[in-house]
Amino acid sequence: MTIDYENRKDKLFNQLGDETIDLVLITDPSNIYYMTGFYAHPHERYMSLIIDRENKETFLFLPALDREIAAATAKVDNIIPISDEEDPFSIIKNNIKNVVGTIGIEMNVVTVSHQNGLLASFPSVDFINIQPHINKLRTIKSREEINGLKEAVNIIEKVLDEGLKTIKEGMTEAELVAEFEYLMKKFGAAGPSFSTMVLAGEKAALPHGSPGDKKLQNGDFLLIDFGVITRDRYCSDITRTFIIGEATDKQKEIYDIVKASTQAGVDAVKAGVPLKEFDIAARNVIEKSGYGDYFNNRVGHGLGIEVHEAPSIHHLNEDPAEKGMLFTIEPGIYIPGYGGVRIEEEVYIDENGEAEVLTNYPRDLKIIEI
Ligand code: MN
Ligand code: MN
Repeated sequence: MTIDYENRKDKLFNQLGDETIDLVLITDPSNIYYMTGFYAHPHERYMSLIIDRENKETFLFLPALDREIAAATAKVDNIIPISDEEDPFSIIKNNIKNVVGTIGIEMNVVTVSHQNGLLASFPSVDFINIQPHINKLRTIKSREEINGLKEAVNIIEKVLDEGLKTIKEGMTEAELVAEFEYLMKKFGAAGPSFSTMVLAGEKAALPHGSPGDKKLQNGDFLLIDFGVITRDRYCSDITRTFIIGEATDKQKEIYDIVKASTQAGVDAVKAGVPLKEFDIAARNVIEKSGYGDYFNNRVGHGLGIEVHEAPSIHHLNEDPAEKGMLFTIEPGIYIPGYGGVRIEEEVYIDENGEAEVLTNYPRDLKIIEI
């Protein structure tokens, strides 16, 4: 994959418009990856990408131990290693020659101590929030990025197919998670894009439950929500809910409502309308069926090089849907003490402004025999 990082820099500057910003300082590892092609998580050490807006020169400040891999992969002008005993902010000051009045930072990410460190080196500087600009930039995906994201979808769907075959009597949720995560790596993923969720029976009612020692049993809902991150750092995120053994009429009813809700949400997707419309379309189906009290979260979220990113698809979001956006549609019904169903798809708004569903796994109710 060849990403044009110069182009991304230009797009960022366009996005910043006429805001007075001398330096762009990026610290989120995913944003640094997006701008340079280099990924590392510095943990408690310091890492940032600084772009001098006047001459577009780029400086990557990073832990000394990451220097070699950065030299091989980072599309930047200068790589400046910081060893563990050095003060990163003095090193930044020594490298930035221009007079600095304003620094654009990601205000969701930069810590107070990092801000204080910058103030110690640049005492009269003002900070401007560039978070919304970077988020916006990442929201609009090229066809090339979609191809990378499709690879992540293809792997996870293969994992789902093969993983379901390993289910047997007496297996626990945690054991099925282990099978899935083994298959992710076997099929070429870097790993899961988030903690693999396998929830059985009444635990399927917990949108963010954690898999444990519960054994899979006949009559259980089996909710599987998972994804992979590829070696190019593209994420997938899909949910399917199955029923083990035999389904009751009520289980089938709930399943069919959620399936219709997902379909309604996907059908609503197109460019040019407010993002809230997709949530409302899916939500209406559940509300009209009388289960509205059991669907309490937004219908979806953007994803890309992170499994959650902008935009947020909720019923109050007036922002327009745009070509190039990719997000999930994942309505659910969660009945405490009983169980739940979620069906999650990934939808891209293509070059024509139309919905392209990236996930392919069948949505019809599937009974799993153990
Ligand atoms: Mn999910
Ligand atoms: Mn999701």
